[in-house]
Amino acid sequence: MTAPTELTLTTNIAAVAGVNLRQAESFRRLGIRCVADLILHLPVRYEHELAETSIAQVQEQADALGDEVTLSVCGEVVMVRSVPARGRRRVELTIQDDTAALRATWFNMPWLAEKLRPGLVVRLIGRIGRHRDLLQMVNPRWELVDAAEPKTPRAERYRPIYPAGDDLPSWQIERAVGEVLPAALAQLDDHLHEAYRASRALPALADAYRMMHRPDDPDEPKRARRRLALDELLLLQLAVMLKRRHRRRSLRAPALKHSAAIDRHIVARFPFELTESQRGVIEEIAADLGTETPMNRLLQGDVGAGKTVVALYGMLMAVASGHQAALMAPTELLAEQHGASIGGMLRGGRVSIDVLTGSLSVAQRRDVLRRLEAGEIDLLIGTHALLTEHVRFKSLALAVVDEQHRFGVHQRATIRSKGRDDRTVPHTLVMTATPIPRTLSLTVFGDLDVSTIRGMPPGRRPVTTRVRDFTAADKVYAHVADRLAKGEQAYIVVPVIDESDLGLTAVHSHLEALSKGHLRKHRLAALHGRLSRDERDEIMGRFRDGTIDALVTTTVIEVGVDVPNASIMVIEHAQRFGLAQLHQLRGRIARATRKSLCVLLADSPTPEAEARLDAIASTTDGFLIAEKDLEIRGPGELFGAKQSGIPPFRVTELPRDMELLQLARRDAIAWVRENPTLSGDRDALLRQRLLKAYGKALGLGDVA
Ligand code: ADP
Ligand code: MG
Repeated sequence: MTAPTELTLTTNIAAVAGVNLRQAESFRRLGIRCVADLILHLPVRYEHELAETSIAQVQEQADALGDEVTLSVCGEVVMVRSVPARGRRRVELTIQDDTAALRATWFNMPWLAEKLRPGLVVRLIGRIGRHRDLLQMVNPRWELVDAAEPKTPRAERYRPIYPAGDDLPSWQIERAVGEVLPAALAQLDDHLHEAYRASRALPALADAYRMMHRPDDPDEPKRARRRLALDELLLLQLAVMLKRRHRRRSLRAPALKHSAAIDRHIVARFPFELTESQRGVIEEIAADLGTETPMNRLLQGDVGAGKTVVALYGMLMAVASGHQAALMAPTELLAEQHGASIGGMLRGGRVSIDVLTGSLSVAQRRDVLRRLEAGEIDLLIGTHALLTEHVRFKSLALAVVDEQHRFGVHQRATIRSKGRDDRTVPHTLVMTATPIPRTLSLTVFGDLDVSTIRGMPPGRRPVTTRVRDFTAADKVYAHVADRLAKGEQAYIVVPVIDESDLGLTAVHSHLEALSKGHLRKHRLAALHGRLSRDERDEIMGRFRDGTIDALVTTTVIEVGVDVPNASIMVIEHAQRFGLAQLHQLRGRIARATRKSLCVLLADSPTPEAEARLDAIASTTDGFLIAEKDLEIRGPGELFGAKQSGIPPFRVTELPRDMELLQLARRDAIAWVRENPTLSGDRDALLRQRLLKAYGKALGLGDVA
């Protein structure tokens, strides 16, 4: 006989007693490979199982029991039979103890009739209910009881119900957890020191897992959950604080000059007066740029709020101090448009500006890169092509990232690596029209300072938004035709380029239908992401000139595209778009010189979809819409949180745990103040676990 091997947290699940190879595979499908994974696999709820009583007592209590309550009884089998029941087979069984008899029924388990022979003593565990007038247990769990042994009645308990697999029921997981729990808990060291736990009334880590898997009372899982959620949040907050400290302490950015003369020079380039709000934000940014501490700032403001000039202001500060600046846009179209509008403002001056996108020829690209490295280019605008390693600046002082939600944390980190040397990084400014809700700004983006542009530049009129059923499409397009005849222009937005996808309206077929139907007297063109840069430029150029009346397009126009004469937008299958996206889209006609109209065509939307569309029709406040979007879709889907590489929370739920989040933030700040690099024995394990969880995603490699 071989001695049983010592069980550790890394022991393979297949080595756990009672887990066979087939089950081990089922465990793996649930993401459970080893003992530690099993301990981390937490119950979703608990069933209250009452202490075992006599059958007579059960009969008395039965009608007062709630749905979550189960009970167990013990008795001798006095009758068992298998009967046909509507194509299935039903096993009926009666047990009896000293006090009374009870009926149990199972469906589709005919073999039970062979197993549970009269005379055997069995224990039944499950819910009790009434069928007609007869009390019975349906599909109870059962176990044979040795009639010769004195029986130990089951005590009251809270049975954990685990997220299960098709072929791995909760009770098998429960049994496996039971096998490993004592040994596993004994090896679980706590990374939060005792004084801290005491100050927050947190159970120790091993206790918390015991309370989760084997609670003694219904309160324990709650206390355990609080510990594990706060733990999770604290680790993330600590990681964010360490990163912030590292940036502020060990990294340097060029300090940029700012003076009244520089200010006069810069604003002289703008074809309008800055609004008060833009002014305020510029002051915040200029103050950051004036120091060697690398700026890490988020600039939020609704679509059309005028973020670009604010960023340009900062970029020109870089140039005034003899450095370079970069602006990164999420699409080529937007990069080119930024290039055109910024180029327009700087025309005739000494600032040299270039656009770098994926569609430059090899020779053009080589030329741009050479001049960039030589310092002959002051402002470089581009897409993520700016991130490739061949792009080297002479002295990059400010990197601006437009429409932050489309970029992940990694990409922002890469652009930050484009400073002069390892210790010198550019200041970074990220811009978004989708305000980051507080929950997220405290977590994933907890390292960002936030500036907000409120209100709109003068001259904007709110877009009237109407929701219409697709059966009204004829009327809608007839109205569009009328307005095009009066010299207005329109965007017609469809969800897909090609027909093949799910029978949705597609660019080309829709263009064809419209040009034979309501819009046959007008000049139409298609615009989408599969066209080459030249083709898109050509089409946008003609749209701007007014030689195209309407563009049938995908969401490539979502961000930034600006044609003031375009005052109509029709969005097909509107219910398929997110709220924030619809708001961005209609922002394209918000600069119109005429009264603009956006029609959301929805095909038989669900009541929920209809409510969303009505919500967007009734407000033009992008911040409100973003909060609504968050409510509806949950935080995970927004703002690159998914691409961020941050591991998802196991226990925490936001915004439900907002209070814990705030507590974690306060505690993390205090913690880092007291032990800035988490050094020493006390925090060694904490540091190790933190780096394991967030080191890679947050680039903490050389931080702690
Ligand atoms: P967004 O914040 O969505 O990026 P933009 O920076 O593209 O907005 O600005 C939207 C439009 O408003 C642009 O045409 C820009 O030139 C114009 N604009 C910005 N600031 C002002 C201002 N202070 N006064 C008038 N027009 C402005
Ligand atoms: Mg913009």
